[in-house]
Amino acid sequence: MDGSFDAVVVGSGPNGLAAAVELARAGASVAVLEGAASIGGSTRTAESTLPGFLHDVCSGAHPMGILSPFFRELPLDEHGLEWVRPGASAAHPLDGAPAVMLWRSMERTCEGLGRDGDAYRRLVAPFLRDPHALLRDGMGPLAWPEGPLNFARLGALGVWPSTWLSGAAFRDERARALFAGCASHSILPLNHFLTSAMGLMFVVAGHVEEWPVARGGSIAITRALASYFESLGGVVRTNTMVRSPADLPPSRVYLFDTDPMQMVRIADSVLPASYKRRLRRFRYGPGVFKIDWALDGPVPWKDPNCLQASTVHVSGTAAETAASEAAMWRGDVCERPFLIVVQQSQFDSTRAPEGKHTGYAYCHVPHGSTVDMTERIEAQMERFAPGFRDRILARHATNTADLHRANPNCVGGAITGGAADVRQFFTRPVARLDPYATPNERVYLCSASTPPGGGVHGMCGYHAARSALRRIEGLSAAPLG
Ligand SMILES: Cc1cc2nc3c(=O)[nH]c(=O)nc-3n(C[C@H](O)[C@H](O)[C@H](O)COP(=O)(O)OP(=O)(O)OC[C@H]3O[C@@H](n4cnc5c(N)ncnc54)[C@H](O)[C@@H]3O)c2cc1C
Repeated sequence: MDGSFDAVVVGSGPNGLAAAVELARAGASVAVLEGAASIGGSTRTAESTLPGFLHDVCSGAHPMGILSPFFRELPLDEHGLEWVRPGASAAHPLDGAPAVMLWRSMERTCEGLGRDGDAYRRLVAPFLRDPHALLRDGMGPLAWPEGPLNFARLGALGVWPSTWLSGAAFRDERARALFAGCASHSILPLNHFLTSAMGLMFVVAGHVEEWPVARGGSIAITRALASYFESLGGVVRTNTMVRSPADLPPSRVYLFDTDPMQMVRIADSVLPASYKRRLRRFRYGPGVFKIDWALDGPVPWKDPNCLQASTVHVSGTAAETAASEAAMWRGDVCERPFLIVVQQSQFDSTRAPEGKHTGYAYCHVPHGSTVDMTERIEAQMERFAPGFRDRILARHATNTADLHRANPNCVGGAITGGAADVRQFFTRPVARLDPYATPNERVYLCSASTPPGGGVHGMCGYHAARSALRRIEGLSAAPLG
């Protein structure tokens, strides 16, 4: 690529583009280099089954996207992004009982939780006094919080394993099952510390906004970011895989929307050995196995209320959810896996031809697993939606190796940039006051491997750009290494 820049961003996932936008908003000249043929990383959409069926390749529902403090500042609607809100954020079907529903309304949600309704309200409602401050505090590096009381409460409750918190707070299966499903987005065994934090953030988000899908597909999110970036003068180049410093134009700073080891390989000569040693200890965590279906109609849930939710947590009881997540962590395959199902076409008619629907489900599997989970996933669907298999027109399965091939950041099929366990929750990729900066003031990590981690929210990119902007003043454009 010709020319020199104030900043070069390697990778065009939501964090790379968010970083690029923030740098361009500050007046910097910025280029984004993307290795794939199209932008978006794990926030893309493709016709992977049949013509006319638009499947979200990775991210499907976006609670943290609609609530992202950074996205909320940007005119993304003017660049084509429309959030489509479902009737409910999540449904959790149970055998022989109505599905548990996470509605935006606290009252309606509590009504469905029977005698645990009051306990649920006592646990969750205090966070809703200033949820946006809580999200700003929770979606960044550790710093003095804007809402210290709420943040301290999140820390005091969130630190516990979700099995402990829901065991102590609730008496019945319904609330425990709902909380287990939300906590499982942590991709950790539910008896691990900090899994309650993920459960709480997801239920709180569901009472602020319904977990939405993006009209036209998740690609609308990254397209809107790229379009806004280009309107600020930014340049995006696809088909530009960066493997060494020779692939990079001269720049004052470089931001990597990559996994930490790719950054080490590319910036090898300009990073100190001690820092690279610490990065090599980074743990990516488990992977996922995903299926997209073209369907002849909506999912025939036993409880039709499930059709009102963008996301359905399919596993049954809290104990079954916990068993599934424990198995993947041990390196085993669970016969009855916990599924995250997203029903985009239920709310966005652009996703499938008239009368048809898209289906989306994934389960967590051991790092690098190539076990085919199709049969087990479809058996779980059939359990809660009898006749589901008869609706399948076509399917497209993706294992951990496919995910890694499509996006080099998904190492071993890991989808959130690295395990969000006690060791890496706040200190990813390594423990530093500024986790985005490296010992070289020209090199930054801006991907989901930095706080606050996985999800489509752009906050990793935003904070990395702020970090780079604090140092860029005294630097001049030069080749890297
Ligand atoms: C199956 C799956 C389901 C998910 N579901 C959800 C969900 O429902 N909701 C949600 O919020 N999140 C979800 N996520 C997580 C979310 O998609 C990611 O956390 C998010 O996309 C991370 O953004 P990023 O910018 O850090 O990196 P990525 O999205 O991984 O983008 C990185 C980009 O950098 C490019 N790149 C990497 N290395 C190089 C290189 N050397 N040179 C040039 N380009 C390079 C890649 O090609 C890619 O385009 C899901 C992810 C997966 C995989």
